[in-house]
Amino acid sequence: MLGLMQDVPLLVSSLIRHADRHHGDVEIVSRRVEGDIHRYTYRELHVRAKQLANALDALGISMSDRVATLAWNGYRHMELYYAVAGKGAVLHTINPRLTPEQIAWIANHAEDGCLFFDLTFLPIVEKVAPQLTRVKTFVALTDRAHMPAASTIPGLKCYEELLAAQDDEYVWPEFDEKVASSLCYTSGTTGNPKGVLYSHRSTLLHTFAITWPDVMNLSARDTILPVVPMFHVNAWGIPYAAALSGAKLVFPGPALDGKSLHELIESEKVTMSAGVPTVWQGLLNYMDQNKLEFSTMRRTIVGGAALPPAMLRTFEERYNVAAVHAWGMTELSPLGTLCAPRAKHAELSRDALYQMKAKQGRAVFGIDMKIVDPDGCELPWDGKAFGDLMVRGPWVVSEYFHDESGDPLLPDTDGVRWFPTGDVATIDADGYMQITDRSKDVIKSGGEWISSIEIENIALSHPAVAMAACIGVKHPKWDERPLLVVVRKPGSEVSRDELLHHYESKVAKWQLPDDVAFVDAIPVGATGKMLKNKLRDQFRDYRLPTI
Ligand code: AMP
Repeated sequence: MLGLMQDVPLLVSSLIRHADRHHGDVEIVSRRVEGDIHRYTYRELHVRAKQLANALDALGISMSDRVATLAWNGYRHMELYYAVAGKGAVLHTINPRLTPEQIAWIANHAEDGCLFFDLTFLPIVEKVAPQLTRVKTFVALTDRAHMPAASTIPGLKCYEELLAAQDDEYVWPEFDEKVASSLCYTSGTTGNPKGVLYSHRSTLLHTFAITWPDVMNLSARDTILPVVPMFHVNAWGIPYAAALSGAKLVFPGPALDGKSLHELIESEKVTMSAGVPTVWQGLLNYMDQNKLEFSTMRRTIVGGAALPPAMLRTFEERYNVAAVHAWGMTELSPLGTLCAPRAKHAELSRDALYQMKAKQGRAVFGIDMKIVDPDGCELPWDGKAFGDLMVRGPWVVSEYFHDESGDPLLPDTDGVRWFPTGDVATIDADGYMQITDRSKDVIKSGGEWISSIEIENIALSHPAVAMAACIGVKHPKWDERPLLVVVRKPGSEVSRDELLHHYESKVAKWQLPDDVAFVDAIPVGATGKMLKNKLRDQFRDYRLPTI
């Protein structure tokens, strides 16, 4: 017997309708690429999202078509979030920090038909436009006054003119909640980047889940500044969850330096924020140098990379800001765990509490997790045993978009299918998970990934290189930076500078190795694979020239 309740699909459009009807007067403030501060309300966002939906119709964008963005956090990007998904198309947010070649590959793989971009990225778009086989329409996210005088982009359109030509009458269509709403690519250690295709249902369930008190604790009394980019897993879901809760939103645009962030946090009375540790490091350094305080900010979500214990203490003791550690992945929409104390922790000593808060935290309801040994057997939750972290839930990927590399899920002995995260973790008796290592060898620099294999392959294309391994070495500002370890071919000569020169125009500048170490041999395991763990141990105290 089925329940007798209404079968209303969970759709992204319901969030913007809700925000308009129930807190339509709440502000969305954006620092624009044009340099000024823009402010309007959820009600005005809704009106413009409907105009944009009409404009997308006029451009011939229909159900499930992919619409790409190369854009900072701002109100026009938010309009795209709602208009594209609301009409049943798919919003594909592209990370502009990738190389033009990577951007072109991803846009072609996604079969993007339309590209909306901030003026900052005009040079990138001009460079990749000839390679974008499917993109028919290019739109600059600006008004006529700021449009480039001349551009090589064919038929470049002006966003504000597109909107102005349209009516604001639009009825959001109802369709199956399992329809795709947005697409993000994650880069793996092997092969090409992989697309994670979120549905309206997975997005809405994630939105409900992250809003709860023991998760992001978002409310109508908050003013949220998401530093995490809208091109990094949908800014961790904040553009949706803010609309659900009625929180004021403050978008920092392209200005992510300490001074600009602090000014905006103070002038807009921001109460909470979210971002990767490196951005916070920049802000904290600036505040320390200038003896500044936060007058309204009370908590920040830190994730994407491990929250350093020293940063946790600085936030809490020096600035009276709760730093909340979270873990997630593109494949998890992204939130998996978040570290909030339980009632029993009220008795903990200060040091023990900090130790607990440095963990990645407990699973958000909806996510189930376990750690397993190499045979797939579940390990105990004792805070000591560590193993591969596996997850499952309604906002976890089930397969990658148009990907031939096989099923990403692993069935357990009961046939239940789990997603192997590639992270290695412990889980304690209270359910707090801690990442101890990652099985992937990817290098995380400032919250961005650098593929070690890509760096190695380029080294190996140099005639003097016999073997190459790229490993992450600790860096005070960027967390990790790549160190290239090289074995030269017998009788061949190549210097550090010559090798680094070899990378020019092959990778983005921030992906370049910081240094090259020449060795006689790289340790190799029984199956012929390089033992990077051993190499990391060997170079643990290596001092990069960039420190
Ligand atoms: P991405 O898909 O780019 O968001 O990267 C996901 C990966 O980032 C995870 O598999 C982890 O290796 C890493 N990660 C995310 N959050 C944390 C965290 N709080 N601590 C340590 N690693 C993290």
